[in-house]
Amino acid sequence: MGFIAWHCLIRMGFPVFMLLGGLGILLPKNGVGNVVGALGGLGVFILGATGAILAVRLLIRGFKFACPQCKGRETDFGMSQKKAMWLYCPRCGVFEESGFLKMQISHDAGEEKK
Ligand SMILES: [Zn+2]
Repeated sequence: MGFIAWHCLIRMGFPVFMLLGGLGILLPKNGVGNVVGALGGLGVFILGATGAILAVRLLIRGFKFACPQCKGRETDFGMSQKKAMWLYCPRCGVFEESGFLKMQISHDAGEEKK
């Protein structure tokens, strides 16, 4: 899984599935409400499990995201004080989440790591 795919999953997948889960609670307990709630719950569970596995791989096993641009593996990954995830590649610079709800990725080719 690449950094961009991971970013999209976290920033778009979670809100969508949380919304589904919330809808499932709000909707009347008929067929549709149960299906929507189950889908949301399942989605959040899968994303949570994926996140936990990835966090373990990142922290313990030295897993690194490939650079979105040059596909290099010599990257650093972290979370800024703004709660934006960033990926640093020595060749391409910094890719950092930005914009509304951190939906975008900004690319800074400078040498400085933020
Ligand atoms: Zn790169």
